[in-house]
Amino acid sequence: MTPQTLRNYIDGRWTASEAAEAAEVHNPATGEVIARAPLSTAAEVGAAVAAAGAAFQEWRETPPLVRARAMFRLKGLMEGRFEELARVITTEHGKIIDEARGEVRRAIENVEVACGLPALLMGYNAEDIAVGIDEEAVLQPVGVYACIAPFNFPAMVPFWFLPYAIGCGNTYIVKPSEVCPMSQNLLFELLDEADLPPGVVNLVNGARGTAEALLAHPGVAGVSFVGSTPVARQIYATAAAHGKRAQCQAGAKNCLVVMPDADLARAVPNLLTSAFGTAGQRCLAGSLVLAVGGAYEPLKERLVAAAARLKVGDGLDESVQMGPLATRQAQERVLGYIERGLAEGARLLLDGRGVTVPGYPDGYFVGPTIFDQVRPEMAIAREEIFGPVLGIIPVANLDEALEIINGSPYGNAASLFTDSGRAAREFRYRARCGNIGINIGIAAPIATFPFAGMKNSFFGDLHGQGRDAIQFFTDRKVVISRWF
Ligand code: NAD
Repeated sequence: MTPQTLRNYIDGRWTASEAAEAAEVHNPATGEVIARAPLSTAAEVGAAVAAAGAAFQEWRETPPLVRARAMFRLKGLMEGRFEELARVITTEHGKIIDEARGEVRRAIENVEVACGLPALLMGYNAEDIAVGIDEEAVLQPVGVYACIAPFNFPAMVPFWFLPYAIGCGNTYIVKPSEVCPMSQNLLFELLDEADLPPGVVNLVNGARGTAEALLAHPGVAGVSFVGSTPVARQIYATAAAHGKRAQCQAGAKNCLVVMPDADLARAVPNLLTSAFGTAGQRCLAGSLVLAVGGAYEPLKERLVAAAARLKVGDGLDESVQMGPLATRQAQERVLGYIERGLAEGARLLLDGRGVTVPGYPDGYFVGPTIFDQVRPEMAIAREEIFGPVLGIIPVANLDEALEIINGSPYGNAASLFTDSGRAAREFRYRARCGNIGINIGIAAPIATFPFAGMKNSFFGDLHGQGRDAIQFFTDRKVVISRWF
């Protein structure tokens, strides 16, 4: 079957891109090309911005309750195609089907929270700020917003933003990742069925050039970016140079601290899911275990034994526990890091190189990999590997663990496993990371909370989801009145 070239969704219509080039989308379990994502032109970005701009006035005047009804319809449509969405995610990305289901659930949760926007959009007022003078604050939508999305949660990440943006009365443009664009394209079929006025939501496929056209376009008021740190930093600066507001969620290097009093039977499955879930391609993935004192020996043994048992294969097979990496380049990068770890003197306890999956000779697989005797200055301890590679660093105490965490340029997530409330309090208070887990391996905030992140893991001030999203997608206007 010839892989289809994906279309753009602009002004309520599916349109074929005129771009001369397209990115190949692969099924990473088989290596097959399954679709092509056109690298849409600046003119196509311009058409999407024009459509979104033209739709804005009427959409902002649409009562929030009516806008919320579209969110209720969208939720129903997503529930109806839940399993299909999950299968598309697994096919384009490689993550196991249960993780894909979790991703769809998280996307829906954001739509559910946006169903409550009519209440969340209420302003506030004060009478008699001076004699006979009243003051009120109202929240107003801003205009056209855009999302530049990463490959690793291709369905969910744009939904950290889109439901809030349009629920607040803005109009929206999504540029999905060119690596995994298919689930977002399917979600736009559902947005099309949700009966939104033309131009309220638009989808423009593409890669860097398409993103740059969005950033440069004067009709775009704000940008939500999620992706790697170098690109996030650049997009934040470019957005500011063009006078746009921006929230840029970026890369990570997350530590999992295990205290000697931790319940290892409970901690180990958590650590495994954190490090090897989605084949390590989560911005919240734990990639270093800091084993405190006596935790080190027993933890090391249990981790290696449990990781060695993980079944690697095609994520669509329900018995598989870890899928492939998303691309051949990612596989090569991760294999390169394993070589680097060895060259730096770390000890390989579990080697994921050369893993074979019967029937899938061309898949981008790397098995669970664990390094011991890792030192904080090694590249495998400092850099984001974004693959199933876990390093263990023995530390003397919690202070030393916090020093390593706070010495990292990243600040996305950190977890502590302990039985001690005092240690937990110390950790949550002192760790300079935005998402903290206490006996939780993946500290993923639900939709009513901001997806936090600090240092080089986030550029901006208002995060995705929760109350932050409402602030990002509105202006606060103050009205002071006196009547004679
Ligand atoms: P990426 O930075 O390569 O690409 C992200 C998006 O930016 C894509 O849509 C891509 O087309 C576009 N892009 C790439 N280069 C660009 C440029 N120079 N200018 C403008 N746009 C550009 O990231 P990725 O590989 O898709 O995603 C993985 C990264 O995302 C990891 O670093 C991961 O930690 C991070 N991530 C962070 C979070 C978070 O919330 N902090 C969540 C998910 C993923």
